Amino acid sequence: MDSNGPEARPPVRPAAIPSSDVLVVGLGPAGSATAIRLARAGLRVTAIDRATFPREKACSEYLSPEGVRQLELLGVAERLLPLGVALEGARVHGARGSALEGLFRKAAPPGMREVGLSVPRRVLDAVLVDQARAAGVTVLERTRLVELVRTAGATTGAIVRQGDRLDQVSSRVVVGADGLHGVAARLLGGRRTEPLRRVALVAHVAEVDGMGSTAEMHVGTGLYVGLNAIGGGVTNVAVVGRPDRILTVSGDPEANWLAALERFPAVRGRVRRDRIVRAVLATGRFAVRARRVVADGALLVGDAADFFDPFTGEGICTALRGAGLAAPIIEAALAEHRVAPAAALDRYRIARREAFRGKWAVERLIGYGMTFPALFDRALGRLDRRGMGHTLIGVTGDFLPARAVLNPGFLMAMMV
Ligand SMILES: Cc1cc2nc3c(=O)[nH]c(=O)nc-3n(C[C@H](O)[C@H](O)[C@H](O)COP(=O)(O)OP(=O)(O)OC[C@H]3O[C@@H](n4cnc5c(N)ncnc54)[C@H](O)[C@@H]3O)c2cc1C
Repeated sequence: MDSNGPEARPPVRPAAIPSSDVLVVGLGPAGSATAIRLARAGLRVTAIDRATFPREKACSEYLSPEGVRQLELLGVAERLLPLGVALEGARVHGARGSALEGLFRKAAPPGMREVGLSVPRRVLDAVLVDQARAAGVTVLERTRLVELVRTAGATTGAIVRQGDRLDQVSSRVVVGADGLHGVAARLLGGRRTEPLRRVALVAHVAEVDGMGSTAEMHVGTGLYVGLNAIGGGVTNVAVVGRPDRILTVSGDPEANWLAALERFPAVRGRVRRDRIVRAVLATGRFAVRARRVVADGALLVGDAADFFDPFTGEGICTALRGAGLAAPIIEAALAEHRVAPAAALDRYRIARREAFRGKWAVERLIGYGMTFPALFDRALGRLDRRGMGHTLIGVTGDFLPARAVLNPGFLMAMMV
């Protein structure tokens, strides 16, 4: 058994929670989607989350049309669409006045949805958890992963904490879906963590002037602001960037968030402190990637495996797609083995790399470009004049291949 740090421990109750084929840790989009798919395949699935739903999550709360398609596959789109706002695309504003518009409908291949969805995570994640229950998943809220249980080197379950009780849950595979700051990746072999390079402060604000069906990104030096209407007259206002550019006022997230907005002339004045309708949420340390995404008896999905920058990331869509890659591979592994061996799960690692490596490259390209605000501004202007923002949003939105951006023609258009 691996240790997860010193902690005063009550005795572990061995079989208080019935054993299952699959134990999913974390019920964000990645965990719920994996649980739903595996329960529908006839497996006995237990899913735990330390939170109770509905819960809040620091996020800009937009989904591309491909993200909505993923929700359709899980059978929740019909329920969610009326609870959010149709999103047509995004407009990125550079530091020196250039802007780039990307509209989904201008990039969508024939037959594809032409709009995405902006919906509060409080709603999205709770609907997915409901769907997991409806699919037959045993959902345990307020239940936290403490340790993985290992038998002959393979993960065969977990020790979980519910209040002051510790229980042991046995399973044939553990799916670590506990997000960016979860413990599953660490317990499975560690993660590459960078120093605190970026933080985010996210608020919900009513009556923000000038919001329509297109999200806005405003890029400054070392930070950016995202504005996204999420329904009910409320806008998600997120500030993301270097701690030295954002954490400039002592202590209070709200004061720092307001101070950061002040740096953006096109935003300040539109966002009023007395219209904040949800406390400012703070989160940080984004650049993490698990050292291994599969092991004997375990696998990671969503942010637990790797995190995409919020600017380009579409992390929800990626989490849902990752679940779609993982589920059939888990199912096949469990059809042949009592405990899913790493060798059988390794196809998932390969499938992830194939599906996401282009996106990782585009993310790095844009992230690097943003560190040179003047050049980035010029590139936005050049791409916009050529109508190429639509292609870019199609790639970051997961419905055009990365090669639509990673080719000499596109890259030259950014520079000259
Ligand atoms: C500032 C910001 C803005 C973003 N904006 C967008 C956006 O607009 N669109 C988009 O697509 N993506 C966005 N993302 C990314 C997106 O939020 C994530 O990629 C997405 O939430 C990943 O889903 P997940 O299921 O992997 O993890 P999460 O949604 O983080 O879910 C993990 C779950 O695990 C639970 N958990 C954690 N530890 C434990 C434990 N020990 N035991 C049990 N449960 C545990 C948590 O309670 C949580 O419910 C943004 C991210 C940030 C930080």
